[in-house]
Amino acid sequence: MRRITLFGATGSVGQSAVDLIARDLDAYQVVALTGGNNIAQLASDAIALRAELAVTCHDNCYAALKDALAGTGIAVAAGEAAIKDAAARPVDWALSAIIGSAGLVPGMNALDHGNTLALANKESLVTAGPLLMARAKASGATILPVDSEHSAVFQALVGEDMAAVERVIITASGGAFRDWPKDRLASATLAQASSHPNWDMGQRITIDSASMFNKAMELIETKEFFGVPSSMIEVLVHRESLIHALVGFHDGALMAHVGPPDMRHAIGYALHWPQRRHLPVERLDLAKIGSLSFEAPDEDRYPALALARYVMDTGGLAGAVFNAAKERALDAFIAGEIGFLQMAAVVSATLDKMSSRDGLQIRDMTLDDVLEADRLARIYAGEIARQIG
Ligand code: NAD
Ligand code: MG
Repeated sequence: MRRITLFGATGSVGQSAVDLIARDLDAYQVVALTGGNNIAQLASDAIALRAELAVTCHDNCYAALKDALAGTGIAVAAGEAAIKDAAARPVDWALSAIIGSAGLVPGMNALDHGNTLALANKESLVTAGPLLMARAKASGATILPVDSEHSAVFQALVGEDMAAVERVIITASGGAFRDWPKDRLASATLAQASSHPNWDMGQRITIDSASMFNKAMELIETKEFFGVPSSMIEVLVHRESLIHALVGFHDGALMAHVGPPDMRHAIGYALHWPQRRHLPVERLDLAKIGSLSFEAPDEDRYPALALARYVMDTGGLAGAVFNAAKERALDAFIAGEIGFLQMAAVVSATLDKMSSRDGLQIRDMTLDDVLEADRLARIYAGEIARQIG
């Protein structure tokens, strides 16, 4: 039996993983499930998956979780430290599906105590890619990508030599506003930004898809995970979301990964890697689909993409500042404090401010440097959001 832990089990990615595990329960010993304030979901999944431990990240949810699991024999814990402790329980496979940079430290710890970390939490690569990759190397753990585009690139690279790679192309659906005239974007509402044309995801990543901040993060994620420079990574708008990524080689060949927009594919690939097993996802009927479309992204319309290029070319703490400012700007948009287009303005101004204050490049970056940059960037981004909102 494989010992596994799911971080962020109650979220959109986490629930897709729960679905896969529940279909084959006898193959797994579930060590821990973690979640937030959806205690009913966390408790019922912990029971259904026969977990040893259930953890909520909110201290004030402890009593509710304890009540919900009374008499089941499942251990209960709460708070940030408890999530870290859960990451110290050795497992064969852990899924990192917490949202935001809160996933960084549990992911780092899981690398020290586990064989394989299936990484959906792109924020940890954006924030501290070099540290995460170095930690995996030092501990001998494997990181497998779970973001659909990165899983696609990973699959296209099987058996290939990285030296033969000329370019990596990740696709973007264009998000909720792909057909809106540019001058309407400033007035986009929270409800409008929260619905995705192709994917069913958590609210934050759905809004990030509309602004292309999600694709911006994925550019940085590509650079950090695969070690390719910014100049080799492209974004292609592909509204059907069926091709997830393409890898271009020196001989002109492009290897494309085609599949339905269902996260259970990428999660399942990482779960069974290096094997391929049957997965309960739709089989595409390409004749019925008929045609696929491609467009270049309009960088004017999506300033997040240029910000990602700046972050990739700057390195150091730029990713941590970019991610934290983006998370804070997104909070402000969700709270109705700033408009849709002002999110990019907040991120850009925060990068400028932190860059002129301390510089963003740093030698021998540590986790403490990253956490401090994250903390400061959130404060500045909050101030900037208040000024411009
Ligand atoms: P979500 O908001 O649906 O779920 C997030 C999970 O993290 C929940 O279980 C929540 O309780 C937990 N969580 C939230 N804040 C936390 C904190 N401070 N500490 C500990 N746990 C916390 O998010 P999601 O859409 O499932 O995305 C999860 C991650 O996967 C993100 O990094 C996202 O970018 C990435 N991702 C998501 C999708 C998708 O289809 N949703 C696709 C690719 C990548
Ligand atoms: Mg993705």
